[in-house]
Amino acid sequence: MTGETSGRCHCGGAQFTFDAAPVATFYCHCSDCQRTTGSPFSVELMIPSDTFAVMGELATYTVIGDSGGAVHRRSCGSCASGLFLECDSDPGFVFVKAGALDDQSAVHPEMHIFVSAKQPWVKIADDLPQYDRMPPA
Ligand SMILES: [Zn+2]
Ligand SMILES: [Zn+2]
Repeated sequence: MTGETSGRCHCGGAQFTFDAAPVATFYCHCSDCQRTTGSPFSVELMIPSDTFAVMGELATYTVIGDSGGAVHRRSCGSCASGLFLECDSDPGFVFVKAGALDDQSAVHPEMHIFVSAKQPWVKIADDLPQYDRMPPA
């Protein structure tokens, strides 16, 4: 994934771009991702925030994450599509939801995290590293 990458919400009222390769790309099986996405897991790209630009009206839902720090979940203020997260425990980065990208085909997940919360009916069929919680720093 090189060059400018773009994404948007379902209604198009919120859009974003970034111009950096992801620092990490992962499947997150945590219970917060399950609940907030209505899906068994989320796929997210860790992007340096200084290259990330967002336009449009956002809504923010803040919870205390498993890290113990606040996690700010940003979605479109109109259609409520989840777009990205900011975590107080990871300053300087945003976690972009793969499903919001205009071209998801360039996404290459590298690991599964919070596998301890994975649903038993989700079968991991790849050889990527699996971590019970966060990967070791
Ligand atoms: Zn929208
Ligand atoms: Zn998660």
